[in-house]
Amino acid sequence: MTERIQYNKAFTVGIALNIIYVIVEVFYGLHINSMALIADAGHNFSDVLGLVLAWVSAYLAKTATTKIRTYGFRKSTILAALLLQLKLLGKFQHLYQQQVQL
Ligand SMILES: [Zn+2]
Repeated sequence: MTERIQYNKAFTVGIALNIIYVIVEVFYGLHINSMALIADAGHNFSDVLGLVLAWVSAYLAKTATTKIRTYGFRKSTILAALLLQLKLLGKFQHLYQQQVQL
C-alpha cells in the first residue's frame, strides 16, 4: 500500500510541475512571440499526457483479478510503454518529414 502512495505522490508532483512549466512557457512564448517556447510547451504537454497514461497504467496493474479477467490488467504498463514509444516514433516521422522535403 505504501508503494502505491509513493507512486501517487511522484506522479502528482511530476504532472503538477510539468503543467506549471507548460503554462509559464505558453505565457512567455506568446508574450515575446517565441515559437520555440510554444513548441516546447507542446512537447511538455505531451509529457504530461504520457505521465497521466503511465499513472493510469500503474494503477490498473495493481487492481485485483476477477473471474472474467483472471490476469487482471497487469500488462497495462507494457501497453502504456508501447503506446508512448509509438507516439515517439510518430514524432520522429513528423520531424523527418519536416526536415527532408521529398
Ligand atoms: Zn519530454
